Amino acid sequence: MNLYVTHRSNLIQRAIARWLTMKRDPRSCPYCGKFNDCHTNVDADTVDGGGPPEDGDCAICIGCGNWSIFDGANLRLPTDVEWQEIQHNQDCMRADRAWRAMDKERSAQQKKEAG
Ligand SMILES: [Zn+2]
Repeated sequence: MNLYVTHRSNLIQRAIARWLTMKRDPRSCPYCGKFNDCHTNVDADTVDGGGPPEDGDCAICIGCGNWSIFDGANLRLPTDVEWQEIQHNQDCMRADRAWRAMDKERSAQQKKEAG
């Protein structure tokens, strides 16, 4: 099971996508419905950029922080067995902590901007 972050690409990322591990491949999050147009492989042992996601690989949504599984052209909810695998995967748990820290910062920033 490889690990990806699904997210929206920005203009610069789109321009240099071919040199990044980022794969442009639009799919919607099965939890929040966020339309993410690419996936970045973030396995700790990926040194060569990795490949595109395959069926059964997992992804964390940049929008809501929930986990899903690549399945054909879609993302679906994990089965109980896959969920167990995600929870016991050190890379996934690191990504989970990183997402929560990012979300905390994002919320603080939004509060600050709202005055
Ligand atoms: Zn989501």
